[in-house]
Amino acid sequence: MQESAERYVALVGRPNVGKSTLFNRLTRTREAIVHDEPGVTRDRHYGRVELEEGSFTLIDTGGFEPTAEEGLPQLMRAQVETAVAEADVVIFILDGRQGVTPMDMEIAGLLRKRSKKVVAAINKLDDPRMYDQVTDFYSLGLDNLIPVSSEHGLGVSPLLEAVTELLPPGGIEAEPPEGVIRLAVVGRPNVGKSSLINKVLGQERMVVSDVPGTTRDAVDTPVKVNGRDYLLMDTAGIRKPGRIKKGVERWSVVRAMKTMDRADVALVLIDAVEGLTDQEARVCGLALERGRAVILAVNKWDLMEDPDRSFKEFKDLIAYKLKFLSYVPWLVISAKNGRNMQKIFKAAEEIYAQYTYRASTSEVNRVLEESVRHHQAPIIGRGRLKLFYATQVSTRPPTFVVFTNAPDKVHFSYSRYLQNRFREAFGLDRIPVKIHFRKRTRRD
Ligand code: GDP
Ligand code: GDP
Repeated sequence: MQESAERYVALVGRPNVGKSTLFNRLTRTREAIVHDEPGVTRDRHYGRVELEEGSFTLIDTGGFEPTAEEGLPQLMRAQVETAVAEADVVIFILDGRQGVTPMDMEIAGLLRKRSKKVVAAINKLDDPRMYDQVTDFYSLGLDNLIPVSSEHGLGVSPLLEAVTELLPPGGIEAEPPEGVIRLAVVGRPNVGKSSLINKVLGQERMVVSDVPGTTRDAVDTPVKVNGRDYLLMDTAGIRKPGRIKKGVERWSVVRAMKTMDRADVALVLIDAVEGLTDQEARVCGLALERGRAVILAVNKWDLMEDPDRSFKEFKDLIAYKLKFLSYVPWLVISAKNGRNMQKIFKAAEEIYAQYTYRASTSEVNRVLEESVRHHQAPIIGRGRLKLFYATQVSTRPPTFVVFTNAPDKVHFSYSRYLQNRFREAFGLDRIPVKIHFRKRTRRD
């Protein structure tokens, strides 16, 4: 299987210009892709934009809006800086009704300084007669100015065209080496990612920079465990001055995503002392949404005074906070004393086998037939939903296509039913599984 390198587009702009409105409009999926579990809510800040010409991940910086004490300009700046660092293209959204404000000029200046590729969306122009307003914005010194109305969906196609033109080609990455498990070690700064990799390597090979403002890029470490080859991928921790810590911490999620994009299995570390935060839940959700297999590891277990009690507490916490992850393996570890290091790799091997599982078309169809026999497809309109046949189109994770007369009429509950049947039948109990519904054409 080949995979393409993921591209990232960031939405920036001051508050109230319409970032979330545009984000929601752009990330509305067109295809009926059904994710594994209903609990995996679409993340408000990171969404996929699926296009014929190639898809990308859209990042809404609106989630990083300043709190009162942080002050507006400073955080805004941090936000834009980070967007600049992480994204291939920036959509700079402006309020076409208000005209240019000082903060717009400041953002434009920052983008220009970093020579970022920018498309300016002049928003809230709900009527083409208002398009004259666009000329105001030429004073910002930007080239691509597109009038849009996020609310009414006007100008969205030209906007996407302009963005697509600036994006790097969805480069085809080298095929993953056969049998090598690519394991992304993700988690917030200080959770113990480097320590864990060091422990596995048995040596202090990774040097963590503590110089403010420096970043390390993702590091891939090849390692052999139990005769099996792994590529350990570390999301670089970003260490920056405390005052912008909040923004940076959230943004490290983007780094985690980028690392996970290249991996098979995401090993999500949780700090036993700090507990399970929304951020970890978010990373797990994103991992599954992106079709990664997930293993949860609660690190620093050596610090637990009453391990039995803590174990029970974590169990409840995970069950409660990560309902949608009920099926992923989780374990407690200590990168410091090496506890359960072996278990991580045992879990990784098991989960990888499922992740790369391939069923024959005849098996898939047998399961589909049985499933439909047990639980008839629902009535739709004047007929009944027909599921003709199915096949597995790819692995990593196992992805099935079911051909039907009405792909957009497949109700969520029925597709979920099918997923569960597929997972049961093929023993895929620890990973996400995808099912797409396609319309059967005459040719098929
Ligand atoms: P954000 O703070 O940048 O994320 O902005 P929002 O998406 O929350 O939008 C701010 C306000 O602008 C909301 O009241 C929206 O309804 C409004 N808005 C967003 N896009 C448009 C648009 O295209 N036309 C008009 N008239 N209003 C819009
Ligand atoms: P990273 O930012 O995720 O790479 O985290 P590091 O590996 O740099 O670890 C951050 C801090 O946590 C360091 O002081 C480590 O020594 C400490 N640490 C990491 N793993 C453990 C562990 O299992 N137990 C204890 N007690 N400390 C740990």
